[in-house]
Amino acid sequence: MPKLQSRPDPAVTASLPYGRQSISEEDIQAVIAALGSDWLTSGPRVGEFEERFASMTGARHAVAMNNATSALHVAMLVADVGRGDRVLTTPNTFFASANCAAFVGATPDFADIDPVSYNLCPASLEQTWGSGVKAVVAVDYAGQPCDMPLLYQIAHARGAVVIEDACHAVGGGFEYDGRLWKTGGHPWADITVFSFHPVKTMTTGEGGMLVTDNDAWAERARRLRAHGVERRNFVGLGAGDDPALNERGPWYHEMQELGHNFRITDMQCALGISQLSRLDAFVARRRAIVARYNQAFAGIPWMVRPGVIPPAKSKHTSWHLYTLKIDFGALGKTRTQVMGELRQKGVNTQVLYIPVHLQPWYRRTYGYGVGKCPVAENFYKHALSLPLYPAMSDREVDRVISAVEELRERGGR
Ligand SMILES: *Cc1c(COP(=O)(O)O)cnc(C)c1O
Repeated sequence: MPKLQSRPDPAVTASLPYGRQSISEEDIQAVIAALGSDWLTSGPRVGEFEERFASMTGARHAVAMNNATSALHVAMLVADVGRGDRVLTTPNTFFASANCAAFVGATPDFADIDPVSYNLCPASLEQTWGSGVKAVVAVDYAGQPCDMPLLYQIAHARGAVVIEDACHAVGGGFEYDGRLWKTGGHPWADITVFSFHPVKTMTTGEGGMLVTDNDAWAERARRLRAHGVERRNFVGLGAGDDPALNERGPWYHEMQELGHNFRITDMQCALGISQLSRLDAFVARRRAIVARYNQAFAGIPWMVRPGVIPPAKSKHTSWHLYTLKIDFGALGKTRTQVMGELRQKGVNTQVLYIPVHLQPWYRRTYGYGVGKCPVAENFYKHALSLPLYPAMSDREVDRVISAVEELRERGGR
C-alpha cells in the first residue's frame, strides 16, 4: 500500500511549512529504477507519463516539459502569440502566467479578480479587453477553477485563445451542464498547463505539462521543446541537385524553426508516474484538511475563509492553497507580526500573491501602477496562506487552527 506520509523529518514535524511534497518509498524506487535504465532523459518514461496524464485529465495530448513556465512559453508560441499582441491575465498569480507573454514579445495586461473566488473576473475581462488581445491566461487560483465556460465564451467571441494556467489545479474539476469536467479535459480551454513543482499537488521535482486537444499544436509543442527539430516533412538544405547534400539517411533531421531545450528527464517522469498513482489520495487529503479549516474558522469575524463560486465546487477542487483574508486592523497587528507569532508556534505561512502588475519590472516596462486592479490589490493586503499538504496529520491541522485562533487572544482588540 502506498503511504501518504513523507519520510520522518524532525525539523519538518516541529515546524510546518506552507506546502510540501509527499515522497513515498515507491517514488524513490521508481526513480532509482530509472537511474539504472538506459535512459536518463527523453526515454520511454516521458511518453508513459504523458499518456497517463492525458488519460487522467481526458485531454487528447499531453506534452511534458522541464517546468510549467516553459509550458506556458510554448503555449504562447503554438497559439502564435507574438509582437504586437496583448495577452490578458490575472494579477493574482505567479509571474510566469504573465511573463510568458513577454517572452514572445507580446504585452501582458491585467484584468481584475472576482472578490469571492480571487480568480479572473469575467466582467473585468470584458471591460479591460481593448484591441489586439490574442490570448487570455486564466489562472485557477488556489486550485479553484475559473468560470471557464464564461471566460471561453468572452474570449472566443473576440477571436482570442484561452490558456488555462492550472498549475494549482492538478487533479481538480468543476460541475457544468449537469456533469463533472476534469481540469485539462473540458472544452473551454484551448491549452491547459500544469506544474509539478514540489509545492504543487504532485511533483516531478521540477516539471510541467501542456495538454491540448489540438493535434497540430501538440505536435509543434513537442518540436519546440527540443530545439524545433523536425524528423519528417522535410524541406531540404537548399542544395540544388547535389546528391550527397540531398541524401536523407537515418541521421537526417532539420531545424525548421527556432526551438528551446525544455525537455523533462526520464528520472523526473518516473517520479511523475509514481506520484500520479496517488494523485486522488493527495487531492482527497487536501479537501479533508480544507474542510477541517473551514469548519474551525466558521464565525470568526476577523477573517474571510476561501469562497467558492460556480461552476467550481469545493468538493471538486484540488485545493493547492488555503488562503484566508485577514482583517489585520481588527487584530491590531501587522501581517508581519501575525506571521511572526504563527512562526513561533511552528506554523509557517505565505503571502500569495503580490499583484503582478505592481512588480517593479511591470511598472517600469508597461507603466502599470496602483489602482489598475483594486480588488486584487485589496486581496493582497489581507491574504495569508496556511500550511496545506497531504502529509499533514489531523493533529498538525489542529495545531495550525489553535495558533490562528490564539492570534486574537494575544492582545487583539
Ligand atoms: C507554480 C506556478 C507556475 C510556474 O510553474 P513552474 O513549474 O515552477 O515553472 C505558473 N503559474 C502558476 C499559477 C504557478 O503557481
